[in-house]
Amino acid sequence: MSNFVWCHGPSCHKSHTQDRIRGVKGSKVLRTKKVKQDKWNTGQHMSMYSYFCSQGCYNDFANTYVREVIALHPRTEALETPIDVVKEQGTDYLDRPYISTRIIAVDNNGG
Ligand SMILES: [Zn+2]
Repeated sequence: MSNFVWCHGPSCHKSHTQDRIRGVKGSKVLRTKKVKQDKWNTGQHMSMYSYFCSQGCYNDFANTYVREVIALHPRTEALETPIDVVKEQGTDYLDRPYISTRIIAVDNNGG
C-alpha cells in the first residue's frame, strides 16, 4: 500500500518497456508508470522526480507545456545579483606573478 502519483510525461504510456505492459493476452496495454512517493521525493526533497518517472518524461512534459508553465511565472525583466569584482595578485608554482579576477556576491540585506 504505497503512495504514488502517475508519471506526468505526456508520452509515458507510449514507451516500449516491459514494466509498462499490463492486461491479459489479447487486451494488453502500455500503461503510464507510477512514481512512488517516498522520503526521497517528498517534503524538502520535492523535485521533478516527484512527478516524473524519468528525465525523458520530464523533458516531454516541459517541451509540450512550456508556454503554460512560463505563463505561470513570466520573467518580464532581468534579475541582478549585486557583486564585487576583486583583482588578486598571486604567484604560480614557478613563482611567476599572475592576476586573477574573483566575483564575490554582495549580501545587501545581511549588512
Ligand atoms: Zn514517465
